Amino acid sequence: MKRHVLILGAGFAGLELATRLSETVSDSVDVTLLDRNDAFYFGFSKLEVMLGRQSPDDVLLPYADIAKDGVTFRRETVVGIDPAARRVTTDAGAHDADFLVVAMGADYDMAATPGFEEGGHEYYTLAGAERLRDALADFDGGRVLVSVLGQPFKCPPAPFEGSFLLHEHFTRRGIRDAVRMTTTFPMQRPVPVTGPVSEMFADALAARGIESLPQQLVTGIDPAVREARLASGESLPYDLFVGIPVHRAPEPLAASGLAVNGWVPVDQANLRTRFPQVYALGDVCTGPRTVPKAGIFAESAARVVADDIAAAVTGAAAPEPYEGSGVCYAEFGDGLVSKVQVNFLRGDAPAAERHEPSAAYAAEKAEFGATRRARWFGR
Ligand SMILES: Cc1cc2nc3c(=O)[nH]c(=O)nc-3n(C[C@H](O)[C@H](O)[C@H](O)COP(=O)(O)OP(=O)(O)OC[C@H]3O[C@@H](n4cnc5c(N)ncnc54)[C@H](O)[C@@H]3O)c2cc1C
Repeated sequence: MKRHVLILGAGFAGLELATRLSETVSDSVDVTLLDRNDAFYFGFSKLEVMLGRQSPDDVLLPYADIAKDGVTFRRETVVGIDPAARRVTTDAGAHDADFLVVAMGADYDMAATPGFEEGGHEYYTLAGAERLRDALADFDGGRVLVSVLGQPFKCPPAPFEGSFLLHEHFTRRGIRDAVRMTTTFPMQRPVPVTGPVSEMFADALAARGIESLPQQLVTGIDPAVREARLASGESLPYDLFVGIPVHRAPEPLAASGLAVNGWVPVDQANLRTRFPQVYALGDVCTGPRTVPKAGIFAESAARVVADDIAAAVTGAAAPEPYEGSGVCYAEFGDGLVSKVQVNFLRGDAPAAERHEPSAAYAAEKAEFGATRRARWFGR
């Protein structure tokens, strides 16, 4: 009899996992892929929407297009998870699983930063990127603050990509001289994976005249007087506030017994949780060593989980341990994209190979998106 694999969340992790299981063991497993939404979009698409280069309709990939042997997509919202029984309750009913995989990503806690919902902007949601696009159209000059409001957050380069692209936007509109740009972040340095990678981002901020305030956390904003409060007790004035929101695990996880200190702990070698035949991967999981929240790591983890399930079902050899590795592309504006090949778990410390921003890497990034679209959605 076929075993039932239930995947909660059809993002980077869930899509790659369902695809690989379909490719490798569709004769041994039935896969149910659940998501509360009816379409997927890449995180980096939001930057395009923020700049008005693409509309939400351009970037949405409908789950209805998924056609894979042994995979059924269901649009349902998970409301409860019993990991010991491997039973999941949704707004449409209940599902039992032989293998349960939690791939629900990270949600945002907008209210964690007082004043932010009322008077701030963000580009971490599609709706937020659209609102920021409209606000930018009305913005003629003043002080722009781009602030990381908490850790961990998705995609370590994304706050800096946003700053570079806003710099490009203001320059193209001929108003850059009328804009003072500042970025604040709680880390010691931008994208702190390794010294050389961090330096590439720090140098690029300086070259564009964007002031950096490291180890500064904005704890709230006062939209009435347009002031951001810092944890240090100081405050910074702004005319346009753009925040990278505080992240948290999606709603039902806290009550499920799976999450500890907010996120789901796993054995980083194979992404297993402490519950038998229950896995967690991608942005929702955590482990003894830091692997950033990014699609590339979710995707490489999905390959390990798929092969671990396949090994259990078919008796094949267990996969090599997960290495937390991938190729990360980051926008620097003016059509330039950097590339960093990174590995977080193989050695004692993260290892990264940095490649300077170029048009050639912009083409590679476009190819990265196109191959995933084709692989997951047949487009
Ligand atoms: C601006 C920006 C730029 C980025 N750029 C990059 C980049 O260039 N490269 C890169 O690798 N990463 C990038 N990322 C990060 C990347 O988008 C995420 O890290 C990645 O999507 C994580 O994959 P995941 O599968 O863990 O979660 P997700 O892709 O977020 O998928 C989780 C899924 O679970 C679903 N879900 C959640 N709760 C429920 C529920 N209760 N019921 C049903 N379904 C639920 C969600 O709807 C979602 O579809 C970027 C992110 C942002 C915001």
